[in-house]
Amino acid sequence: MSSNSGYNLFNEVNKFVDEAAQHLPEVSPGMIDQIKKCNSVYTFSFPVEIDDPVQKFHVLDAFRVEHSHHKLPTKGGIRFALSVDLDEVKGLASLMTYKCAIVNVPFGGAKGGVHINKKLYNEEQLEKVMRRYTFELIKKNFIGPAIDVPAPDYGTGEKEMAWMVDTYQMMRPDDINAYGCVTGKPIVLHGIRGRKQATGMGVYMGLREVCNVKEDMDSLHLSTGLAGKRVIVQGFGNVGYHSAKFMQELGDSQIIGITEYNGAIYNTNGINVEQAMAYWMEHRDFKGFPDATFVEDGNMLLEKECDILIPAALENAITENNAPRVQAKIIGEAANGPVTNAAAHILREKGTIVVPDMYLNAGGVTVSYFEWLKNLSRVSFGKLERKYDEQVLDSTLKLIEQKTGKPLTEEERDLIKGPQELDLVNSGLDETMTKAYNEILEARNTKSFDSLRTAAFYVAIDKISHNYTTLGVWP
Ligand code: GLU
Repeated sequence: MSSNSGYNLFNEVNKFVDEAAQHLPEVSPGMIDQIKKCNSVYTFSFPVEIDDPVQKFHVLDAFRVEHSHHKLPTKGGIRFALSVDLDEVKGLASLMTYKCAIVNVPFGGAKGGVHINKKLYNEEQLEKVMRRYTFELIKKNFIGPAIDVPAPDYGTGEKEMAWMVDTYQMMRPDDINAYGCVTGKPIVLHGIRGRKQATGMGVYMGLREVCNVKEDMDSLHLSTGLAGKRVIVQGFGNVGYHSAKFMQELGDSQIIGITEYNGAIYNTNGINVEQAMAYWMEHRDFKGFPDATFVEDGNMLLEKECDILIPAALENAITENNAPRVQAKIIGEAANGPVTNAAAHILREKGTIVVPDMYLNAGGVTVSYFEWLKNLSRVSFGKLERKYDEQVLDSTLKLIEQKTGKPLTEEERDLIKGPQELDLVNSGLDETMTKAYNEILEARNTKSFDSLRTAAFYVAIDKISHNYTTLGVWP
């Protein structure tokens, strides 16, 4: 999404890495170089047949970048968008490496993409594109449950992942772990409950942690907790929608603005997220939405007064051009790379708390990790212990009834329900997001960093450099 000329996501990420590396004198410049570089880069092109008797084909440019092999497999989504080029994919792949390190998910980072205007193709053609893309990765050994495991990203979802796993299985019928070659699959194809909403759920959990730190909220003159916080969400795709939904339903925050590429809605009294989504699904446009003011230029909402601004679309949304006018006290980076390095510095000066992408949107890859584990173990979470847990709880409750002489109510009895897969996924995600935030916060406080991002990169680089050293590939 380059609007400021010369923008390059990979360079942006590396500027942040260099800033954090200054605080790690024990890690050599050579090691920092090794960490920053992309280990394997695959650039390729293939044709797709179109309904034009003269031209007959479009040739599409495609990419897969494995940024870091310090842990295998590598992991990261596939983007189908016009913004896709090599630098974007390299930048996104590198962010995946730091992201996985932050949340202690044992993968190296990767990312892929196809430079494509999806609107030009019907479903059948898009299926052919995805199958061909997968086939090309298989030919070059760029995909596999132990090698590199793609997932959805902007412009792709469960359907595309289903085409991918099906293509992989056709080509590798003897791979017993074939379902683990990609995550974000539909449940019927061994996906996992909670994956679709995972990034948004992680955004909610991460911001909940941020807003529970009293001294940080005091410095912003805000109360602790999410309740009542005024939130603006940029982008109403899978991540933006679920972030807004959980902030509203679980955090009791007030969603005062939602933007899309063709306009935004704004209401200081709050917008009902489900109603906004129903309207969006019907019209693909917010114009005419009854319960809010329509704003033609969605970008204007980035500059409105609010407590939390959640950019949840593409990179390069907050730049040095608009950062001086951003009034949000907290920016929660649900997208990858929404704040440029120059903008980050302006926001730091203003005292804005920016919660970095590599932590805040890590819910997606965290639940992808659970899905991959499920695929390798071929059993869904909770299956073995659910009945047993229920029996233990039942006996405990009976004992309580006996001892107290008081029978429990139906509601109290409901407690004995053993956990379903979704309960365990959300519990694992919560544990992951909470623990990771504590690590970042501890680094920020002990090292007196001026931003959560520097602290997050510091923690990630420290872990990755240790991994390289223990791998024995580094003296
Ligand atoms: N595309 C997502 C991200 O940027 C998910 C990656 C994954 O699940 O592997 O984090």
